Amino acid sequence: SLSAEVICVGTELLLGDILNTNAQFLAQQLAQLGIPHYYQTVVGDNPLRLKKVLAIACERSRLIILTGGLGPTPDDLTIETLADFFDVPLVEHPEILEDITQKYARRGRQMSPSNRKQALLPEGAEVLPNSSGSAPGVIWQPRTGLTILTFPGVPSEMQLMWQETAVPYLRQQGWGQEIIHSRMLKFWGIAESALAEKVAPFLDLSNPTVAPYANHGEVKLRIAARAESEAIARQLIEPVEHQLRQIGGLDYYGADEDSLASVVGEHLQTAHETLGTAESCTGGGLGQMLTSIPGSSNYFMGGVISYDNQAKISLLGVNAQDLAQHGAVSHTIAKQMAAGVRSRLGTTWGLSITGIAGPGGGTASKPVGLVYIGLAGPQDEIESYEYQFGSFRGRSWIQRISACTALDQL
Ligand code: ATP
Ligand code: MG
Repeated sequence: SLSAEVICVGTELLLGDILNTNAQFLAQQLAQLGIPHYYQTVVGDNPLRLKKVLAIACERSRLIILTGGLGPTPDDLTIETLADFFDVPLVEHPEILEDITQKYARRGRQMSPSNRKQALLPEGAEVLPNSSGSAPGVIWQPRTGLTILTFPGVPSEMQLMWQETAVPYLRQQGWGQEIIHSRMLKFWGIAESALAEKVAPFLDLSNPTVAPYANHGEVKLRIAARAESEAIARQLIEPVEHQLRQIGGLDYYGADEDSLASVVGEHLQTAHETLGTAESCTGGGLGQMLTSIPGSSNYFMGGVISYDNQAKISLLGVNAQDLAQHGAVSHTIAKQMAAGVRSRLGTTWGLSITGIAGPGGGTASKPVGLVYIGLAGPQDEIESYEYQFGSFRGRSWIQRISACTALDQL
């Protein structure tokens, strides 16, 4: 198909010594150019294995982009291997040799004999100039309908060559006439698998495509459309977004840059309402999320971190007898904390969190991950909600998910 694939050559990548940032860069660039890109491969400095990878790549892609292995050392084998694979001889390019000699001379150094190797290109390949380093790459069509671009492994050199020469070349060849535009829908309170099931028919669409993602309890659906312009892509996305939001129902809360805290903030601001928080196990995490939104001072009045029982009593007016009777992690105390902060700060809403973040402190009746969220509202109504987030994902996860759940509750 008319798609590209990326092959990064280097044993140090396989050993995990370096991160494959070249693949990341190229992936982002290809997406930006609207060039479909379905495969990435990492292969060591090994001609046999590189040839195996090439054999597969030319079957399924029309543009193959290689990085790494263009240097002068014996382990840099990309060019020889390409020539061998396509069964053409290597040809010396005197202009490359001249260029490398001059670059060395400018740095007051002498070119070593091993650099001669970098002047050899497969017969029929053009030079992809390297303005910042020594090894040039190639632009090569070894057969009709197949383009090969090679780049050095050094990210700065590769990126400059990509921008200066490869992008104009690809455009001129008609690659990337389309752009990809995407929109991320965000959901809270539903598991990724449950959402994926609900939207299953959409996951088979081809343009736009719909794909689920999940992290930290949040589930997202990415809708991506390919089109000649962003406006047309938006038109393709819009009806699908509408349906997905309907399916998501109350679990849908926002898109793209929206966060739970920003959406809560918008609601409060529009309604001219205010919020105060009383936190125990999250230690201010909820306040941090709320205040990370610029302009939050318009609706967030403040919060109390009442970690110890005594602080719950003296700062929030929680009843000492109820504390002794029900324990701090209970419906009763969550409600009293919410009501306490609401009345002390004179806010529309009071929101509280009390729970057991672990890893210690859990009991059989109140295990780690048990969290109560209290909400006191404008008509003096007070609700509390019980959650069991489990202990297996650890303390900070429980803290984060508690704060997010509290925002969602609001
Ligand atoms: P050189 O002339 O420096 O030998 P080269 O084209 O032979 O260049 P490599 O030897 O494969 O490239 O890699 C040179 C350096 O570039 C590596 O040591 C590594 O730091 C970096 N590098 C290589 N491949 C990648 C990659 N895929 N992502 C990020 N960095 C890379
Ligand atoms: Mg090298």
